[in-house]
Amino acid sequence: MEMTKYAVGVDIGGTNVRVCLGDENGNVKDKLSEKLDVEDKNSVTKQIVRMINSLKSDFSAIGIGSIGLLDLKKGELSNPVHIPFKNIPIVKQLKGVFDVPTYLVNDCDAGVIGEKSFGLGKKEENLAYLTISTGIGCGVVLNGKLILGKDGNATEVGHLTIDLNSKLKCGCGGYGHWEAYCSGRTIPNFVRLLGKNDTRLKNSLILKLCNGNIANLTSEKFFEAVKLKDELSLEILEKIGEVNAIGISNINAAYDVSLITIGGSVALKNENFILNPIIKNLSKHSLNRIPKVAITQLGEDVVLYGALAVAFDSSILE
Ligand SMILES: [Zn+2]
Repeated sequence: MEMTKYAVGVDIGGTNVRVCLGDENGNVKDKLSEKLDVEDKNSVTKQIVRMINSLKSDFSAIGIGSIGLLDLKKGELSNPVHIPFKNIPIVKQLKGVFDVPTYLVNDCDAGVIGEKSFGLGKKEENLAYLTISTGIGCGVVLNGKLILGKDGNATEVGHLTIDLNSKLKCGCGGYGHWEAYCSGRTIPNFVRLLGKNDTRLKNSLILKLCNGNIANLTSEKFFEAVKLKDELSLEILEKIGEVNAIGISNINAAYDVSLITIGGSVALKNENFILNPIIKNLSKHSLNRIPKVAITQLGEDVVLYGALAVAFDSSILE
């Protein structure tokens, strides 16, 4: 019998689940996306099984990149945010149905694996992938191996504290974390803080775009004001960029990487607004030699590519 040349990649996100069929060079033959079904404890697995079956192809292995928290030893989604069920034994369940090797990594780790396998990091042994999305997350490959830590939660850099006295609350409940300033969910809080005592706020587009009520501000509306060259918004954008530069300098201080790629919806929708102030402010906060910093070229598929890559070669996890 001919050996199948395909594997399956799965990306379990907060809202959507995506499945792809591809070869070891990252050529994707088929790709599906659906809204995540969180009806009951088994619905996520059932949905993935149905999606994989609808690819109508043989495959050699399955790689999964998923939102956390995960228990990698048990192959479980132990406490996945946005899914109201705990301890979903996804690896065991998929192995039970398809009888192929099945690997689970967190989504940011899949991101950095995708970047190293098929993206800008192909020639790099030391790299990080940063996502700026609803939250801020990171995956790091050092000396060619993924950094996991005791529970697989290493490199959670969004929760590095960058201000001891900060009143800004993070998605995790803590205060003063990087994520409390610069994620899609928290940018409005940072804008409100910086705009509070600024006399320009009342005539700014920030306020106009949320109909005079700053409580209604979203990060989308803020970037709209930036695009329209609103003066206050452009100043605040610089501050966001400087906080991101501090976070990225911290990644480099800890891991000394040669490349950091950035993905996630906030970065992908506002590439230059996110990237330029980071590059401008990086040297101010860095001791180690500054790495190349770029927006991922794999777009929103970076996690899916990483899941596919780990299905073909799991040695990066060892
Ligand atoms: Zn936090």
